[in-house]
Amino acid sequence: MVVRAETTNSPVDAAAVREQFPILARTVHGRPLVYLDSAASSLRPRAVIEREREVAETLHSNVHRSAHTLAAETTAAFESVRDRVAARINAPAREEIVFTRGATEGLNMVARCWGEKHVLAGERIVLTRMEHHANLVPWLQLARRTGAEIAFIELTGDYRLDLDSAARAINGNTKIVAFPHASNVLGTVNPVAEIARIARDAGALSVVDGAQGAPHRSVDVQALGVDFYAFSAHKMLGPTGLGVLYGRRKLLDDMDPWMTGGEMIERVTWDGASWAELPHKFEAGTPHIAGVITFAAALDFLDELGMDAIAGHERAWTDYALAKLGELPWVTIYGPRDAHERTAAISFNVDGVFADDIAQLLDADGVAVRSGHHCAQPLVESFGVPATVRASGYLYNTLEDVDTFVESLHDARRLFEN
Ligand code: PMP
Repeated sequence: MVVRAETTNSPVDAAAVREQFPILARTVHGRPLVYLDSAASSLRPRAVIEREREVAETLHSNVHRSAHTLAAETTAAFESVRDRVAARINAPAREEIVFTRGATEGLNMVARCWGEKHVLAGERIVLTRMEHHANLVPWLQLARRTGAEIAFIELTGDYRLDLDSAARAINGNTKIVAFPHASNVLGTVNPVAEIARIARDAGALSVVDGAQGAPHRSVDVQALGVDFYAFSAHKMLGPTGLGVLYGRRKLLDDMDPWMTGGEMIERVTWDGASWAELPHKFEAGTPHIAGVITFAAALDFLDELGMDAIAGHERAWTDYALAKLGELPWVTIYGPRDAHERTAAISFNVDGVFADDIAQLLDADGVAVRSGHHCAQPLVESFGVPATVRASGYLYNTLEDVDTFVESLHDARRLFEN
């Protein structure tokens, strides 16, 4: 399927890959679409779109309920994706894979179902200064409800986690250390195994927000030594409204469900209920069946390319984009300059111009970027600005996309000079 590039440092021929993403054939304001917003949501290849249609045409039924053939086939297809995801992240057991609505739900579930049961007043929850709101607000709420204290792992001057600060923040009183695999604002990829080890040595659990990790790196939860890892399908070529929470079986077993109803029970009487086995006790109601089955096609696509090749492509792309932006004295970049230490999500500002204005002018040229606080308001405000522009690349972005984007940036700035 994929042709290897020979003319760039990338192991992926992004020009060939992009042919497989129908939406990239469309125009925006009369210009070819340059999509640089994959950190918000990635595009979907033809194989995923076709699989979705095929599922609707051949497999529609509820799961885990009826005995008819369609239901049995749909249930088998649905459950096979759980096996697939478990194998992909090297989870010891399929029961440790819970389908959620997204990373947000997975992280909230841990805070609610594990946190409320185990975190006591005066105990410590350690977070980082680069949290997305999805891995910040649930813990702040938990601390408010329980009387626990929050401590933060600080950033270094070059936008990485300060591991000395981590060693200081994570003490014997710490119950939970929650941190992102990679920052959606800075692009920084964190040393997950090392932080998880510091947490473990202190007797704390590690909870990883993998929303910006799983789409860009292969993940081995056992090698990383993490207790929980949450991610979203829509950032890795899959459907919206679907995510995965991995949790160690012992911990999931020890958690009560936060949502109750159909399919998550073992037995119900007029005055009570007992819970189904893992993972079903956390999957109340009818799940995103078509989404789960379709997700397998997204994983096929990623695996065919190979996560190492994808990371290599992103490195080459980011290297080029950072070099181009680095030539512009009027651009401030927020994030590590070494493409080896980061993803392709690049946040920046143009001197004297509002981030929203830049994003709007780029959009007029067909270049899709995000502006704002990127659901990481305290982090972005710590730069002394209310917002940044974020251009985020993925496996279908070419170096020509960078050229178009930078050219458009020049034009935008020129407008504000006059
Ligand atoms: N964490 C990070 C780092 C993210 O980038 C995102 C998505 N913006 C989330 C969590 C939440 O993901 P979702 O909206 O898919 O639940």
